[in-house]
Amino acid sequence: MWCLRCGDCCTETEMLLSRGDIERLERNGYPREFFVLFDREGYAKLRNQHGHCVFFNVEARRCKVYESRPLGCRLYPVIYDEEKGIVVDEVCRAQNKFSEKLLERKGKKVLRLLKRIDAEAEGRRNMQQF
Ligand code: SF4
Repeated sequence: MWCLRCGDCCTETEMLLSRGDIERLERNGYPREFFVLFDREGYAKLRNQHGHCVFFNVEARRCKVYESRPLGCRLYPVIYDEEKGIVVDEVCRAQNKFSEKLLERKGKKVLRLLKRIDAEAEGRRNMQQF
């Protein structure tokens, strides 16, 4: 397990959510008003509370929904940077544990996820559903 449980990636999160993420977390008993924030472009993001993601247990330094966490959280610390493309987030303290192979594999999934999230946001803009 490479995660150091520092909680940095769950602090002031801007993690994007897909429709699948939202529906899965709703099925687990969380109303979407609790954890989803829609921005002006129709993108769904995780909400923060007191500086952390609403699902972050500060005392235990754990994710409360680890088994059903958003796909972007599963793929983290591999992210898409608008200038550099697919990279390992420099915020992650375990960033050196990532091989090129893993970066490539997770990177492909990040790109597919972002494509889906972009399409979903466009759909919301068209339908004014946010
Ligand atoms: S859902 Fe879990 S892993 Fe993702 S940002 Fe929130 S607390 Fe962290």
